[in-house]
Amino acid sequence: MLSRAAQVLTLADGELGPRAGAAQGALGLREQYSVVLQDGVIAWCGPADTLDRAAVDAGAGARDERRAEVEELDCRGKVIMPALVDSHTHVVWGGARKDELERRLAGADYEEIFAAGGGILSSVRQTRALPEDELYNQTHRRLSRMRAAGTTTFEIKSGYGLETETELKQLRVARRLQNEGGFRVRSTCLAAHAIPAEHRGSAEGRARFLALVTDEILPAVAREQLADYCDVFCDRGAFTPEETRVIFQRARALGLRPRVHANEFGHTGGAQVAAELAAASADHLLHLDARERAALRDAGVIATLLPGTSTVLGKPFADGRALVEDGVPVAVATDCNPGSCAFENLALVLALACYGCRLSPAEAVCATTHNAAASLGLARELGRVADGLQADLLVLETDDYRDLVYHAGSPLVHAVYQAGARVA
Ligand SMILES: [Zn+2]
Repeated sequence: MLSRAAQVLTLADGELGPRAGAAQGALGLREQYSVVLQDGVIAWCGPADTLDRAAVDAGAGARDERRAEVEELDCRGKVIMPALVDSHTHVVWGGARKDELERRLAGADYEEIFAAGGGILSSVRQTRALPEDELYNQTHRRLSRMRAAGTTTFEIKSGYGLETETELKQLRVARRLQNEGGFRVRSTCLAAHAIPAEHRGSAEGRARFLALVTDEILPAVAREQLADYCDVFCDRGAFTPEETRVIFQRARALGLRPRVHANEFGHTGGAQVAAELAAASADHLLHLDARERAALRDAGVIATLLPGTSTVLGKPFADGRALVEDGVPVAVATDCNPGSCAFENLALVLALACYGCRLSPAEAVCATTHNAAASLGLARELGRVADGLQADLLVLETDDYRDLVYHAGSPLVHAVYQAGARVA
């Protein structure tokens, strides 16, 4: 039992679906509440004074093997909230691009570095070369750090293979992180991340690669049931809206729902495609006008903002305020990847969403919990503090959740619970 918290952010009062507009900032904040965890789920959440201690103790006695998870944690002066959900990551990669970081800080541009063979293509070479077990071990270490910082659920994309064998290797690692590593994972095939070196430089090569994605990679991924979603980098220098539609058509037929890298470099059509196809999520959205926001809203697409990437690349921030005001549900994620943002701490990115994207602290909490879970089809299981939901919770070492933003980056996470077990 987590007892007598100064604040519990329940998010329990609103819609089960993604929250937009005023609802995005409604945290269902309760004071002096306790939360009882049993058998991995939230068994009870209510005023600390009304809790029937005898019933809780009887429950504990009856489940001796579960005693550890019903042990009491005194939460006086602390905050209890849902554990964070990181709905956009590329965490399965080989190598590192710290040299590029220094070049960028010295003034080089991301698209320039890419054109010179750096960027995604450098990670592709290094990921192809790394044996699966080593890839698994390196990613396990990353996810362990991310979980210690408050995240228990991860969306993980492939996209550093750009050929069948390595795309499957990345997605197998993502599945193993769930089955062997014990992390909560949803996986996404992002074979259409970039045109690989061996197919670049000619229209024929480009067509060959697109055919490889639609006729070989996606069917293989579906056959082995390695992904839940399909993503396409629909932007300047990557894939056109027309190509994106063709890829998603194939993905849909194979049972993979779209998520889209959209409008990072300009008004390049990605948001429009996301709306047309009612994608689960449109991500980045640095360049977005009122018409595009309305299209996302009307299609029920969640806008996933990645302010860590804007910070690292020195780019503008997505206008989160305008999205909330126009009624588009907003999620916030790390984009954790080897090049444009290797931030692992989603709580820090939550704060950047306030300073950069102009979300309120309450809106940013919803964006990294309930709305992120909704974008992964997990809103019935996670992202709120309510009876019957998975006991994935954070205890913060503060009596005011707004310190996540006010003291951004401070080590406020006191405890992390996943399925009722303390994991950090
Ligand atoms: Zn990304």
